[in-house]
Amino acid sequence: MFTSQLNNVMKVPFLDLKRNYSTVKDEVLREVTEVLDSTQYILGPKVESFEKAFALCHDADYCYGTSSGTDANHLALWALGIGPGDEVIIPVNTFVATAWGITLCGATPVFADCHASSYNLDYEGIESKITSKTKAIIAVHLYGQAADMDSLRAIANRHSLFLVEDAAQAHLAEYKGKRVGTLGDVASFSFYPGKNLGAYGEGGAVMTNDAGIAHKLKLMRDHGSETKYQHVSYGHNYRMESIQGAILSVKLKYLQDWTDRRRAIAKRYCELLGDIKQIKLPEEMPYSRHVFHLFVIQVSERADVQKLLAEAGISTGLHYPIPLHMQACFSHLGHKLGDYPNAEALADNCLSLPIFPEMTDAELVYVCDHLRNCFTNKVIAQNVS
Ligand SMILES: *Cc1c(COP(=O)(O)O)cnc(C)c1O
Repeated sequence: MFTSQLNNVMKVPFLDLKRNYSTVKDEVLREVTEVLDSTQYILGPKVESFEKAFALCHDADYCYGTSSGTDANHLALWALGIGPGDEVIIPVNTFVATAWGITLCGATPVFADCHASSYNLDYEGIESKITSKTKAIIAVHLYGQAADMDSLRAIANRHSLFLVEDAAQAHLAEYKGKRVGTLGDVASFSFYPGKNLGAYGEGGAVMTNDAGIAHKLKLMRDHGSETKYQHVSYGHNYRMESIQGAILSVKLKYLQDWTDRRRAIAKRYCELLGDIKQIKLPEEMPYSRHVFHLFVIQVSERADVQKLLAEAGISTGLHYPIPLHMQACFSHLGHKLGDYPNAEALADNCLSLPIFPEMTDAELVYVCDHLRNCFTNKVIAQNVS
């Protein structure tokens, strides 16, 4: 069936920023030189034109570039007026930065479990977490798949809560044919170098269709000020650098192609691995157009599989091995193992396979052959349900 290359050792990186850079290098260097020559190093026309283009491809009215995705998380909640004493519901299976937005506001994260197939917030468990202090729900579009926004919106409306999107992993992802970014009241994005749209340094963005929220986002991103030395609200320095705006504008032109390529790789992984009963593949929900920031499978003997793949030169990742409720920094919230069973199973069994737009078919077949070999040689026999 496959031409097995099990005896030749190949190196398959988890992602390869160098290959990606080589495809845009000339354009990027031209843009960066222009920024350096201009001496406009922060915000300015390069950031503004990126904001416009990024808003346009997410059908959004307002978008502001920020200094990182983590800062965008904080800015989004801060602009909504989240503060001390407030509670915000988030899934436990996310990167910790989702929670920092809440703690930086002085508010308290309230944890919820994920759905066993979508890996996104399970709306069925949420309503029991809502108290008089709850102010918002943050839907993380994990791995690049949109959360079930209609269900979450219904709960948010019933209890007069804000609905926030953490779209750090979900550039161009869709829910029922609509791009993420304006499905909630406000959204945050990350342009961390390894994200689907990555800067060459730190970067992020906030997005909304609400003019009032947009005004606050813009003010608070830049010291609460529109006119120099006049500070009408609290704020911070969450501005995007001009160089990052210029680089992101170049890369944004290719994002749709890169996303299509990610989807093609994911499809091929599913075709080649579909018959291996020990592997649980990612599921694309009927309402979603997944952008596969990560391709995450579940295997019960994860440590052994990861080691065998590493020996074959294949780099993999874990997203994420410790759910938030088991992190030392949140021990004061008093949670224990068993509180969030779906997220805990995912943390134990998840394995992220290499996926990046420039990945070759030979590399993909090599990964699949070695993965199959882990099970057919009875190295590992157990089943993941
Ligand atoms: C990457 C990421 C962030 C943080 O973004 P940075 O740009 O690294 O600060 C926040 N939330 C999620 C879900 C992420 O994956």
